[in-house]
Amino acid sequence: MRLTDTHAHLHFHQFDKDLQQVLQKLDSHNFSFVINVGIDVEDSKKALSLSQKHEKLYCSVGVHPHEASNVPDNFLRVFEELLEHKKVVAIGECGLDYYRMLSSKEQQRKVFEAQLKFAKDVDLPVIVHVRDAYDEAYEIISRVGLPTRGGVVHAFSADEEWALKFVELGMYIGVGGPITYPNNHKLRRAVMTVGIENILSETDCPYLAPQPIRGKRNEPIYVRFVVEKIARILDMDIEDVAETLVKNAEELFIP
Ligand SMILES: [Zn+2]
Repeated sequence: MRLTDTHAHLHFHQFDKDLQQVLQKLDSHNFSFVINVGIDVEDSKKALSLSQKHEKLYCSVGVHPHEASNVPDNFLRVFEELLEHKKVVAIGECGLDYYRMLSSKEQQRKVFEAQLKFAKDVDLPVIVHVRDAYDEAYEIISRVGLPTRGGVVHAFSADEEWALKFVELGMYIGVGGPITYPNNHKLRRAVMTVGIENILSETDCPYLAPQPIRGKRNEPIYVRFVVEKIARILDMDIEDVAETLVKNAEELFIP
C-alpha cells in the first residue's frame, strides 16, 4: 500500500536528532512522496534544501499567516529564485489565522492575497491554512481565483457546507490527525460529504499526531492512522483509499 503525506515540516528542529531514521521510514513504508512545507522566507529555504537531499521529498515555499507581519518587502522575488529548483511544487502555506492572531487581520489578508496572485502567475498549486476565518478566506480565493490545478485547504477544520464550497472552487480538503480524535464528528461529516476524490492525506508533523500517539511528536508514517480512519468512515477498502489519496496528491502536486 502506497502512502503520501502532503503536509510535513521535516526541516523543523523537532527532527534534528533522528531525521535520518524518519527519512529512511519513507522507503520502508512505501511512501510515494512527502511535501515539506515552508512557513516563512528563511524556513522555505530550509524546506527546499532538505528536499534536495531526499528523493521522496518535495517542498513548498510560503509565508504562514502567523509570520505575515515579519515578511520582507521582496519576499516574492526570493520565492521566484527558489522556484528555479524543480523540487518546489507548491506555494504555501499561506492563508488566514484569526484564532491566534499573531499578525493583524490586515497584514494577513495582504500577504495571503499577494501569495495567491503569485501562485496564479507562476501557476503552481496553493497550500492554504485557515483557522477561524473561513468566510474571509473564501471571499479572497473566489475573488482572486486559483492556479490551474487549484490547491488544498490543509488541516481542514470547518463544517461540511464549507468543505463543499471550497471543493466547488477547485480545492482539495486536507485531512490529518484530527480525523482520529473521538469528538471530531464535524470533520468526519465533512469527509463523508466531499468523498474520497476530494481529499488529501497529511500529518502537519511535528504537530497534530493522530489518536494513538496524540500529544507526542508526529511524523509521516503516522499518516497510516489517517488513511485507516478515512477508509472506515467511507466504508471503503483501505488499499483503494490509500491508492486514491496518492493519486489525488500526484494530480495536484506532481502531475
Ligand atoms: Zn503546517
